[in-house]
Amino acid sequence: MPDLTAFDHVEVLIVGAGPAGLAAAIRLKCLRPDLEVCVIEKAAGLGQHNLSGAVLEPGPLFSLLDEAAPGWQDSPAGAQLLARPVRKDQILWLPNRKRALEVQWALQVAKGLGLCLGQMIHLGDYTISISELTRYLGHVATSLGVEVMTGFAARQIVYDDRNGLVIGVGLVDQGLDKGVRPQQNYLEGQTVGLKMCLLAEGCDGLLTEQLVQQAGLRRISCQLFSIGVKELVKVSPQQYEGFGPDRVVHALGYPLWRPVIGPGMFGGGIIYPGPAGHIAVGMIVGLDWKYKDFNPQDALTLFKGHPFVHQFINGGQVVEAGAKMIPEGGLLAIPRDPASGAIGKGNCMILGDSAGFVNMLKIKGLHNAVLSGMAAAQAVADCLEEPSRAAVRYTELIHRSPVYKEMWSARRFRHTIARLGPLIGMPLSVLDGLLPAWVVEEDYKATTTAAYPLRPGRPFDKDSFVAMAGSSHREDQPCHLLIQDPSICKEICQPRLNGPCVTFCPAGVYEQIDGLVRPANPSNCLHCKTCQRKCPFNNIRWVTPEGGGGVRYKRM
Ligand SMILES: Cc1cc2nc3c(=O)[nH]c(=O)nc-3n(C[C@H](O)[C@H](O)[C@H](O)COP(=O)(O)OP(=O)(O)OC[C@H]3O[C@@H](n4cnc5c(N)ncnc54)[C@H](O)[C@@H]3O)c2cc1C
Ligand code: SF4
Ligand code: SF4
Repeated sequence: MPDLTAFDHVEVLIVGAGPAGLAAAIRLKCLRPDLEVCVIEKAAGLGQHNLSGAVLEPGPLFSLLDEAAPGWQDSPAGAQLLARPVRKDQILWLPNRKRALEVQWALQVAKGLGLCLGQMIHLGDYTISISELTRYLGHVATSLGVEVMTGFAARQIVYDDRNGLVIGVGLVDQGLDKGVRPQQNYLEGQTVGLKMCLLAEGCDGLLTEQLVQQAGLRRISCQLFSIGVKELVKVSPQQYEGFGPDRVVHALGYPLWRPVIGPGMFGGGIIYPGPAGHIAVGMIVGLDWKYKDFNPQDALTLFKGHPFVHQFINGGQVVEAGAKMIPEGGLLAIPRDPASGAIGKGNCMILGDSAGFVNMLKIKGLHNAVLSGMAAAQAVADCLEEPSRAAVRYTELIHRSPVYKEMWSARRFRHTIARLGPLIGMPLSVLDGLLPAWVVEEDYKATTTAAYPLRPGRPFDKDSFVAMAGSSHREDQPCHLLIQDPSICKEICQPRLNGPCVTFCPAGVYEQIDGLVRPANPSNCLHCKTCQRKCPFNNIRWVTPEGGGGVRYKRM
C-alpha cells in the first residue's frame, strides 16, 4: 500500500504516467533539477495501463532523451526499444473477405503532390511497445529525481474559481466496500496540494473533463473517439520471418466498410511486428458506428480470418490482449479557455491524448504526446513566478511547435469522413482546408436499430480476452461504472436496441440480469471508457476505481 501521507503538497503534480506525463517530468528535471516533480499513475506498475499500436515517429523522443540520458540508444533498454525500424510500409484495401489490393502507390502520389494523405507513410519510424516505452521513460524520470507514484488514482481536481487556479488533486479513497462503507483498511483519499498541475491522463481524461466543466473550457467541435482492440499473437518462427520485423501493414475496407452494399464505418486493421516471434493484430473503429449490435472484437475476428492476415497468425496463440480509446476529433476538439485560447486554465495544462493531440491522418499521437509534455515543462519553468500564466505560455509553445502544424493540416480529415462516410470522405479529405467546417455530433448519437451485416458465426470469447489483458480490481469496492438512470435502460434502450453496452463492451462487464442491464462484472473493466462515450443514451459514467486495479499490459 503506497504511503498516501507523504505527499500532501508538491510544486508540480502530473496526473498520468504515459508518454506525455513522463516526457514533461523528464524535461522539467532537465530545465529545473531543483524542482519537486511528482507523477501519479493509477496502474499498479508503469506501462500496465498503456496500449498503443505502436508506430513511433521518433524525432521528439530522440530530442527529449538525447539531452536527458545521453547515449540512451546504446543502452540495452534503449536498443531494445528501437529494435524494429520500419523499412516496409504497406497499406491495403480489402474489398471483401478474400482479396487484398495494395494501395501504397496512392499515398506515394499524394506525398509527391504534397497532399495531406501523404502523411500516412511510416517509413523511417519504429514499431514499439508503449508499455515498454513508458517503463523506460519512468526509469529515466526516476533517475533524474522525479517521484513516480504508481497505484495512485486521481478522482477530482480542486479548482478555485475565484482565481482560476487548480489548487489540488483529490485521490480515490481506498478500502470502501461495495456499499461505500469504510472497512478496516480504509484510507481516505487525500487531496494533494500543488503549485502547477499537468493533466496527462490519456484519452477522455476524467479530471480534464472536470476542468472543462468547472473552468468553462470550450471545444469548437465535440470530441470524436475510436476504440482499438489489439492482440499480441505468438507465431511460428517462419510466420514471424515471413512477415518481417521491419514491416507495418494498415488495412482499409473489409470488414468495416465496403462500397455501396457493405457497412460504412471509419477505421481499419493493423498488423505490426511485436517482440521476436510475436505479431500484433488490431482493429480500430470510429465510435460513430450505427449498428446496435456491433462489437469491434467481431470485426477483429473477421479481419484475422482474412487470408492476408491469417497466413501470418494461423495456429498462433494470443498471449496478450487489450482495448483503449483514441481521441480523433483533432484540432477542432481541443478544449480551450474562451478568453485566452489556452489549452488549460491558469496553472493547469492539458497534455497528450487528454487534449486530443492525435493526428488521425497518421493514426499517431505518441510523438505529439511527447512534444506536448516538453512544451508543458518549458511553460512551467518559464512561469514559476507567475503560475497563473502557465497555460497561456504552454499554448504559445504548442502553437509554435510541429504539433500545431500537423494538427492544422489534418483538421478536417476525420470530420469529413464522419459526415460523408469513408468511401466519399476519404478521397475528398485531400481537399482538407478547402472543405467546409462540418458540424459533427457526439458518437453516441449515431446508434440506430440497424444490425451489423457481417457478424462472425460464433460469439467472441471475452473471458479469454480479459484474462489476456490481466484485468482485475479489488472485488469489494464501490462499482466504478455508474448507470445514471436505469429506467432508460429498461424502458427505452433494451426494448429498442437490446442494450448495446452488453455487446460492445470488450470485457463483458455489462449483463442483462432479471431483465435489466447492469455493470455486473466491474472487475473485468479494461479502463477503455468506451461505454461512457458509446451508450446511445449517454447514460454511463466511468469514475476512477481504487489505484492499482485494472489491466496489466506488459507489451502492448
Ligand atoms: C489501438 C491504438 C493504436 C495506436 N497506434 C498508435 C501508433 O501506431 N502510433 C502513435 O504514435 N500513436 C498511436 N496511438 C495513440 C497513442 O497511443 C497515444 O496518442 C498516446 O498513448 C498518448 O499518450 P498520453 O501520455 O497522452 O496518454 P496515455 O498513453 O493514455 O497515458 C495516460 C496515463 O494516465 C493514467 N491515468 C489516467 N487517468 C488517471 C487517473 N485518474 N489517475 C492516475 N492516472 C491516470 C493512465 O493509466 C495512463 O497510464 C494508438 C492508440 C491506440 C489506442
Ligand atoms: S447503459 Fe446505455 S447502452 Fe446499456 S442498456 Fe442502459 S442505456 Fe442501453
Ligand atoms: S466497462 Fe466500459 S470502460 Fe470498462 S471495459 Fe467495458 S466499455 Fe471499457
